[in-house]
Amino acid sequence: MESRVSKGKGDIELAGVAKSYDERTYAVDGINLKIPDGAYCCLLGPSGCGKSTILRMIAGHEDPTVGEILIGGEDVVGLDPVARRTAMMFQSYALFPHLSVRDNVAFSLRVKGMSKAERDRRTEEMMEKVQILEFADRIPSQLSGGQQQRVALARAAITEPRVLLLDEPLSALDEHLRLKMRAELSRMQRALGITFIHVTHTQLEAIALADMVVVMDKGVIRQAGSAREIYAAPKDRYVAEFIGGQNVISGRVRGLGASGARLEGSAFPSVDIPIHAGRRLEDGQSIDIAIRRDEINLLRPGQAGLPGGTTGVEGAIVGVEYQGNFVKVLMNAAGEDEFVAYVPERRFFEDDFHVGDRVFAAWQVEHAHLLV
Ligand code: ADP
Repeated sequence: MESRVSKGKGDIELAGVAKSYDERTYAVDGINLKIPDGAYCCLLGPSGCGKSTILRMIAGHEDPTVGEILIGGEDVVGLDPVARRTAMMFQSYALFPHLSVRDNVAFSLRVKGMSKAERDRRTEEMMEKVQILEFADRIPSQLSGGQQQRVALARAAITEPRVLLLDEPLSALDEHLRLKMRAELSRMQRALGITFIHVTHTQLEAIALADMVVVMDKGVIRQAGSAREIYAAPKDRYVAEFIGGQNVISGRVRGLGASGARLEGSAFPSVDIPIHAGRRLEDGQSIDIAIRRDEINLLRPGQAGLPGGTTGVEGAIVGVEYQGNFVKVLMNAAGEDEFVAYVPERRFFEDDFHVGDRVFAAWQVEHAHLLV
């Protein structure tokens, strides 16, 4: 096997990949994805959408039913994880409970039969990189969850993988530690300089960490792009709603002109929409638009004239949640279950809106984002 061990880089390509466990249904289907070398990529989606299946196929714990998987440009289907130079870090960390931190980290080098001097040198170097030298002689039960995660990471990274795969690495930690370890993962990825692929169902985790976010739904990729692209320019209603922070409303295009049109809904009269170059629309076409919650301005209905360039919908306030630096105002508007404005704290208390008040939710026409 050793002769097949690759020296190549950690860029990954999945081409036409599908996986069926039972020959009837597909856990994932039609997966085409390119992940650059050294990227921090998050696979994001609800439980059961196929994230772990993709991770296991890249790792070499499963092979696709059809399709190609290339790492560093070479087809790795059929190769084991060692030959692929991938390593997996599990949610449970799977540390050896009776071995010290040092021996846990050195384990795979010992299995390889590396000389003690070389093994010790590499182990010290890795423990220093992930900052666990000070607990080198403790056993896992004497470490906090966050420290155990670092040991697990060191143990995986010492095999010098070109790709490190992390399956829900933060989900076992409490909220405070999760945020701390999230920052640590990002730091460690930069220190190690290898491709990380991290599976999560938590939107904020993905957008905080990833250079590349892959949003999945029922075995298919809905959108792949930078965190900013996914958040600021979601492709469709599913991505916009899954990432959150947006209001999505549906309607039909009317009065299509060179620089704008209207969107007419069944539960609201109409709002103005922008027309951007390259976007083809037809009169009467059904579309969704997304407006960020933090770009909504609440006005009293009937207030003299709307500011230029704005549009909006009228509704009633059904809930107010104080969030500290902003106030979350929930409305019954545009026929959506949830229509929400994030109002800066200071602004909210200048006008003091209450549950039951009728309001006009206004936004800049240019700020509406057209979905497919
Ligand atoms: P996720 O990681 O997004 O929660 P998975 O990749 O684990 O999703 O699962 C995707 C689908 O494949 C699910 O319907 C799941 O039940 C099915 N599945 C996963 N692993 C197996 C397996 N070993 N045998 C049969 N079905 C499986």
